[in-house]
Amino acid sequence: MKVIIDRSDCVSCGTCYETCPTFFEQNPDDTFSQIIEKFRFNGNIGEGIPPQDLENCAKEAANLCPSSIIHIEE
Ligand code: SF4
Repeated sequence: MKVIIDRSDCVSCGTCYETCPTFFEQNPDDTFSQIIEKFRFNGNIGEGIPPQDLENCAKEAANLCPSSIIHIEE
């Protein structure tokens, strides 16, 4: 499963990194959400592969994102 954040449309609400703090975090510079480094895909801060035990919380964060900018690819 792959997770993609359309970071340019993030409103820094905090929902994703509060819902799934072991996978998402807030970027300290632009304040937008990003993938935690060890789960990033090709080093891209906006794309990541969650381990199986984090898939559900990543999906929940995607469902709760008020801007609907967290996309899941199975
Ligand atoms: S839930 Fe969506 S809008 Fe809120 S911080 Fe996360 S990616 Fe940004």
